[in-house]
Amino acid sequence: MSVRDMVEKDYYAALGVPKDAPAADIKKAYRKLARELHPDKNPGDAKAEARFKEISEAYDVLSDERRRREYDEARALFQSGRFPGGTGPGGAGGYGGGFGGQGNVPFDDLLGGGAGGFGGLFGDLFQRSSPGRGPKRGGDIEAEVTISFEKSLTGLEATVRIPGAATCATCHGLGARPGTVPRTCSVCRGLGVISRSQGGFALSEPCRECLGKGQIIDHPCPDCHGSGRREREQRIRIPAGVADGQRLKVRGRGSPGERGGSPGDLEVTVHVQPHQVFGREGPNLTITLPITFSEATLGASVRVPTLDGAPLTVKVPPGTSSGKRLRAKGRGIPKAGGGNGDLIVTVEVAVPKPNELSPKARTALQEFAQAHPGDPREALMTLLGQ
Ligand SMILES: [Zn+2]
Ligand SMILES: [Zn+2]
Repeated sequence: MSVRDMVEKDYYAALGVPKDAPAADIKKAYRKLARELHPDKNPGDAKAEARFKEISEAYDVLSDERRRREYDEARALFQSGRFPGGTGPGGAGGYGGGFGGQGNVPFDDLLGGGAGGFGGLFGDLFQRSSPGRGPKRGGDIEAEVTISFEKSLTGLEATVRIPGAATCATCHGLGARPGTVPRTCSVCRGLGVISRSQGGFALSEPCRECLGKGQIIDHPCPDCHGSGRREREQRIRIPAGVADGQRLKVRGRGSPGERGGSPGDLEVTVHVQPHQVFGREGPNLTITLPITFSEATLGASVRVPTLDGAPLTVKVPPGTSSGKRLRAKGRGIPKAGGGNGDLIVTVEVAVPKPNELSPKARTALQEFAQAHPGDPREALMTLLGQ
């Protein structure tokens, strides 16, 4: 990434946080946006994908205390017009003489040894591989994956897609179709910014021709559409019993470290699709099971469907009310510490519709009503004095 790229992007605006936001707020804002903009949630939405990359890049810098400080300093300098190439008051002369305020030296070249004293100012932000500095741990990467309810119970190997995490192999990151190369923007001469005078001051603004990139790709790479970046796929193991919204941390699978530093972590938020029939309460699997009035009254052994295809039999005791919860021990969801939760069967008395009732059944019910004349509301009325 070039100096120009960095200082022209407002990482704070990208994440929607103020410039003095504490680290915790930046992390929170990033996570929220990452969830909303994740390509899994916005399939085929190029805008969302571009935004996702933007916030990932912003978080990459702002989540690192030192790089954030350097970014702030570089931006302050750039906006004040004292940045080499931005020929405001103060001029470029201060940064190594050789440029003489010409403003047509590509910014990246300014980082070379010739600039004298320049590198120290921007330090790690731009010279990520400068020798003599300590190892730096790689950044954490946020990802999301959506799995079926069934798979959440058995566990699985899932593929997690991380947009923009890999260099496009087709164009080697150039963004141009193989056999072609990007050309330097003739308007800004590769700087990405143009200067204009206003009221005696020289102001710098991003070049409109190349949108601040400094180069123009006439023939974009067909595989990455000119971005030079591709998504990276990671296979991760999702344990049996994972719950919706659970975050899994995969150590060492984030961004690579620098100067021998250890890699960051991959943090995957798992979304579990709801099931048509089964639900979940902690380690317990839940199901609502219709039973007949006779079964509820007289008691019965009833079959309950399961997720593994073999129904199990549950005893409904005589006099079971609608809403009663019956428990099949150990037939629930695998627990992290071993063992299984239970299957909780909530019974619901199914009331036949009039057209489902045969004349014989209707007669039998009328006879039942006469044989069992009690008023189930009597106790309630007495209690409330009505
Ligand atoms: Zn490409
Ligand atoms: Zn340009």
